Amino acid sequence: MRPAAALVSRYAAVVCDLDGVVYRGPTAVPHAVEALRALDVPVLYATNNASRAPGDVAAHLRELGLPCAPELVATSSQAGAWLMTQRMPAGTSVLAVGGPGVATALEEAGLTVLRPDAGAGHTVSAVLQGYGPSVTASDLAEAAYAVQAGATWVATNTDATLPTDRGMAPGNGSLVAAVERAVGRGPDVVAGKPAPPLYLLCAERLDIPAGRVLAVGDRLDTDIEGAVAAGMDSLFVLTGVDDLYACLEAPASRRPTWVAPDLRALATDPDAGPASLVRLAAAVRAVHAARDAGAPSSELARLTERVQSLLGDVTPG
Ligand SMILES: [Mg+2]
Repeated sequence: MRPAAALVSRYAAVVCDLDGVVYRGPTAVPHAVEALRALDVPVLYATNNASRAPGDVAAHLRELGLPCAPELVATSSQAGAWLMTQRMPAGTSVLAVGGPGVATALEEAGLTVLRPDAGAGHTVSAVLQGYGPSVTASDLAEAAYAVQAGATWVATNTDATLPTDRGMAPGNGSLVAAVERAVGRGPDVVAGKPAPPLYLLCAERLDIPAGRVLAVGDRLDTDIEGAVAAGMDSLFVLTGVDDLYACLEAPASRRPTWVAPDLRALATDPDAGPASLVRLAAAVRAVHAARDAGAPSSELARLTERVQSLLGDVTPG
């Protein structure tokens, strides 16, 4: 049983990142599945990965032991399609560049999908560009032609790299940059983190104001910056890409509300004990304040040691 005063009790819902928080590749992050199963507030899973459809992501989560329906997964493709429905009438013709998740999100949002292999002679009002492992140079060319012809250009996300088990692959940000080189400008809108639309789509789907939602993530430059931009509190966990030191050096736009070793923090009473999440968060804020004030390195080292010590003690046995 989690204590009544658990961290998660301070919020009406949780929006959780996936890679580096719930799983790493095919494997679950230790403690993540148990921690999420035990929550009694709604949880949505928000991923910048635009190539997989929500149903595939939900199936992966169920394989890991986490009950999950496709409606509980929000992708940056869906956020991109959602943005378009706010700006364009139903049935608007949109060029879908990327994996199957991009076209599916557009169709489900009531937009008319044109695929890049339809060739010349078609007019689209917008382009939704997301990652897909099979995106070709001619797909990117079709995106560039449409943008030059005046189409609104929405990128699902601009992550430059995509970590794989063989190293870094070019992510959607690199594919967007290729189109940008051709057309001489960047996308009109980005849907995924750190831009706010993906988180705002989650808040709308939950029907809960952003200020009452806790965003959980492992990356400061996407998950945490996106939470700050969307007006959500955030929990930064140390199970993925960024480490404690990156957090201590983060600029104001990327500073989390809470820091914890892993998702077990959600069930922890933030006030309990001498090494509590509240004290840890305060110690992290002290480092940020000292940095902002240009404190000497000896002072920063002392404050950093305090954070390290609290982090070591806040970890459940
Ligand atoms: Mg992540």
